Amino acid sequence: MSEQIVTPRIRGFVCTTAHPEGCARMVDWQIETARAGAPAEPPGGRLLVLGSSTGYGLASRIAGAFRYGMGSLGVCYERPPTDRRTASAGWYNTHAFHVRAREAGLPAETLNGDAFSRELLEQVTDRLRAGLGPIDTLVYSLASPRRTDPETGETYQSVLKTVGDPYRIQSINLANGLIEPYDLEPASPAEIADTVAVMGGADLRRWVDALLAADLLAPGARVVAYSYLGPEVTWPVYRHGTIGRAKADLEVTCSSLDARLREAIGGSCNVSINKSIVTQASAAIPAVPLYMSLLFDVMKARGTHEGPIEQAIRLFDTHLAPGRSPSTDAEGRIRLDDLEMAPEVQAEVMHLWNRVDDALLAETGAFERFQRYFRELFGFDVPGLDYDRPVEVELPLT
Ligand code: NAD
Repeated sequence: MSEQIVTPRIRGFVCTTAHPEGCARMVDWQIETARAGAPAEPPGGRLLVLGSSTGYGLASRIAGAFRYGMGSLGVCYERPPTDRRTASAGWYNTHAFHVRAREAGLPAETLNGDAFSRELLEQVTDRLRAGLGPIDTLVYSLASPRRTDPETGETYQSVLKTVGDPYRIQSINLANGLIEPYDLEPASPAEIADTVAVMGGADLRRWVDALLAADLLAPGARVVAYSYLGPEVTWPVYRHGTIGRAKADLEVTCSSLDARLREAIGGSCNVSINKSIVTQASAAIPAVPLYMSLLFDVMKARGTHEGPIEQAIRLFDTHLAPGRSPSTDAEGRIRLDDLEMAPEVQAEVMHLWNRVDDALLAETGAFERFQRYFRELFGFDVPGLDYDRPVEVELPLT
């Protein structure tokens, strides 16, 4: 037993501690949300989630398992507890998921390691052959700053830069909550290529190729990979930035994989454009925390705000569940960002965006609410928990 009082240690967009019970409560809350309105007889099926421990990947796994009764294999890259530090939030989330999956009799397994590596892919195919069997749904939800190409051994680092001319954008300094200009540097051609190598479609292609070759995609299997478009004010950093180039590459990859899967197994592969939500990955993108702070209040006031679990539920209910086919825009993309991008929502957010300053942020409490979402990612600020009580931090992943 190793009990301790756990407090948040936050620096900017990084929190180096996580509260196991707080994480478990957040997982429970997502499970409850997924179960509400679930089919009376969940159809089951088999789900593989790459990036299964936090954010969109975790929510997708919960929706598949606890709403549709799917057995799941998860892949994540999380830090175990040590003598000096708690485990990462994704570690505790995964532990909590496994506890509940066992209670519910849902098959669940998780492999913790580098999804970009050959070894991890081999472990996944071995596990599928030995246990779960061919999968019906593959969710690709990795967000990583680097990737080592398993063929060449070369390591690529992604950068968050703009493409073309330098650009000054307003942003929140997450350390002090003040609005500051952020100068986006233009990326070099090599930096663009490296970011595409990390977050583009190459790794998804490798997974789909390997699973197809191993007969581990069931007839009609659906593959979905996540992306974001967002409003024009964020385009210099997102859509027209290095990350946008990588996502464009992911889209091209998905449409060619879609054609292949249709022919080979009657399956599909789509990008799903999701809503902006607070995660470790999105908090790191300049300007996006400020935009989200304003957006969430507008969407909440209209009753249209969604978090990851509501988005994942909508994805399964409308596009991925047995008997459903993905409905897409003209570019073949599933659109879960419709409520965020509704013209009246965007008009209101842009009105705020154009006049926001430190006083307005403080007066509305918008950033404070953003910070609360951020702390919740690590199990802090969860209502009803006594944070002065020591808790067990040495928990297994599964
Ligand atoms: P996140 O940081 O919450 O999750 C990332 C996941 O990837 C974690 O499970 C982590 O363990 C795993 N991971 C990272 N590197 C790995 C590696 N090398 N091997 C195995 N697992 C690894 O991120 P998120 O915000 O949920 O993003 C997931 C996807 O959703 C990304 O493609 C992102 O672009 C997309 N998306 C995010 C948002 C948003 O607002 N957060 C919006 C739309 C789309």
